[in-house]
Amino acid sequence: MRVLVVEDDPTIAGAVTEALRLAGHEVDHTERGGPVVRSVEKDHYDLAILDLGLPDMDGLVVLRELRAMKLPIPVLVITARDAIEDRVRGLEEGADDYMIKPFALPEMLARVNALHRRWLSTRGDRLVNGALILELASRRATLSGESLELPTREWQVLECLIRRVEKVVSKEEINTALSQDGEALSDNAVEVYVSRLRAKLEHSGIEIRTVRGFGYMLEAAD
Ligand code: CA
Repeated sequence: MRVLVVEDDPTIAGAVTEALRLAGHEVDHTERGGPVVRSVEKDHYDLAILDLGLPDMDGLVVLRELRAMKLPIPVLVITARDAIEDRVRGLEEGADDYMIKPFALPEMLARVNALHRRWLSTRGDRLVNGALILELASRRATLSGESLELPTREWQVLECLIRRVEKVVSKEEINTALSQDGEALSDNAVEVYVSRLRAKLEHSGIEIRTVRGFGYMLEAAD
């Protein structure tokens, strides 16, 4: 993971940075809140650790700016201010987790990992439609909680369709997605994969409808 540590206390910043590096993460550190939004935007961090008491601005302002920009990054707030109202306020401003200083480094690492996992499973990494879930990182598909076996081609077709639920996806688009590894496909290949998928989706409440002359659409079954 790429982690941005925003902390002005050199002892804490040093310890946190070193612990993260030893755990295999790539870490950048800044003492000030001012440049945070821009660097998160530019450098694609996976997670930020944010102190609230920064020399140039309140960490909560940084947090508010990050959320206002809709930057999809989990934020672990670390703070010495242990007053309960600050804690509640911090979480309401969009912190994903919160730790009061002093904290144990192994606990911080555990929380960092948990946040990252949670983020992957709820945001970028999961395509859901009704009872059907595709988990992109692990390439696991489930239907009504049961594991669904999908060979690569069927997965690719279903991924195309689930990304555009209730919209028509043309056969050409699906063909292009399938041909990305360079292998040419026969004309009716897409039809074959679709018919296999239909068999697997039977009675699930989800169906693949043929839109004559255009392509296919994933939708709720009638
Ligand atoms: Ca501080």
